[in-house]
Formats: sequence, C-alpha cells, structure tokens
Amino acid sequence: MIRVISLDMDGTLVNTRFVDKVWMEGIPMLYAEKTGLDFLAARSYVVGEYMNIGSDHLEWYDLLYWIDGFGLKVGKEELLQMYEDEIEIFPEVPEVLDYLSESYDLVVTSNAAREFIDFELDGLSEYFREIFSVTSDFREVKKSPLIYGKVCAHMGVKPFEVLHIGDHYNYDYESPLEAGLDALFLDRKGERSGPEVVGDLREALALIEGCV
Ligand SMILES: [Mg+2]
Repeated sequence: MIRVISLDMDGTLVNTRFVDKVWMEGIPMLYAEKTGLDFLAARSYVVGEYMNIGSDHLEWYDLLYWIDGFGLKVGKEELLQMYEDEIEIFPEVPEVLDYLSESYDLVVTSNAAREFIDFELDGLSEYFREIFSVTSDFREVKKSPLIYGKVCAHMGVKPFEVLHIGDHYNYDYESPLEAGLDALFLDRKGERSGPEVVGDLREALALIEGCV
C-alpha cells in the first residue's frame, strides 16, 4: 500500500534548461566579463574547473562555491534570477500533482542544492509535504539506497509504502528499488521500455491508479 510518492525534480517536474543555463551560460558569461576572455574560452575554462571537482563532490552543486571561486561579482539569487524565465514545469505536472495529492503525501527528493529547488519549485511547493535536497539536507552527492531510507524514516513510513519517480535510471530507479521502495523510471525520451517505465507523469498516474 503506497502512502508517499517521492518525485525527482530536474528532468522530472522541471525541464533542466534553467539549471543548464545557470551553469553553462551564466557563470561562463560572468567569468568572460571579468577576465576579458571571449565566451567560448571562458566556458571551456569554467567547465574544465567543474570537471576537476566532479559531481562526486558537494562543491559541484554549490553555486556560492563557484561564484566565490571564480571571483564573480554576483549574488547567487541575482544569478538565478537572470534565468528565472527559463524555468519550465513540464505541462502535465500541475494536473498530475493535483490528482496524486488527494490520495498520497507527496515529497520531492532532489540532488539539487536548496537555492535551485526554491527557485524551480516556486509555483509547486504547496503540493509537497517535504522537499528533500540530498546535497543541502543530507550532505550527500548521490541518491544512494541509504538516502531513500532516510527519506522514509523522516516521513515515518516503511520503504514499501513509498513510490519514487525520476528520470535517472540508476539513482531514481535502481537505487530506490534496492532500498525496498517501489519505483517508476521516467523516460521522457522514450529510450527504454518495460512495465515500470513511463514516458511522462500522466502515464505514471495511470499506472498508480491502475488504469492501464
Ligand atoms: Mg532528474
């Protein structure tokens, strides 16, 4: 019996374009302005620095670390605001959350840092009982089975009472399954198929409600 539905954020609820713009356009552009490099040279340097840290380290996710590291004269709020218009919630999301929130407690389990979550879920936050940032709240970089266990503990439910949905096959599908949760893999590109693969959240809703 599922009581809690956990959702990933980037690529699941919200298009990743906003995040991509902040990291791949905003920071390189400001670094280009600061150093006088052209944009492409600045971006290549900045991305090289990202790669030197890598996604296994908390710094990778930490906007302030990069603003300070590159010596940029911008506040993190200000930088996020520059791309606010790029935040695009997938079209089916509000309707699906409306339905699901009537029968389930909804939570978000995202790798994104808290400052990104606050911006990206601005219009959706009332649907969620809890919003977990794995990096900001748990100080971990990956959604390991252990993290899903912590989410369950925090919600006061058993793993088998939770269904997680997200678009990363390993961290949103295999990892929650390993922790004893139910999981659906969201494949918006339609590359995989299977009984627990859905193309959008409407399909997930149909599976959850047993309509297909
Ligand atoms: Mg994702």
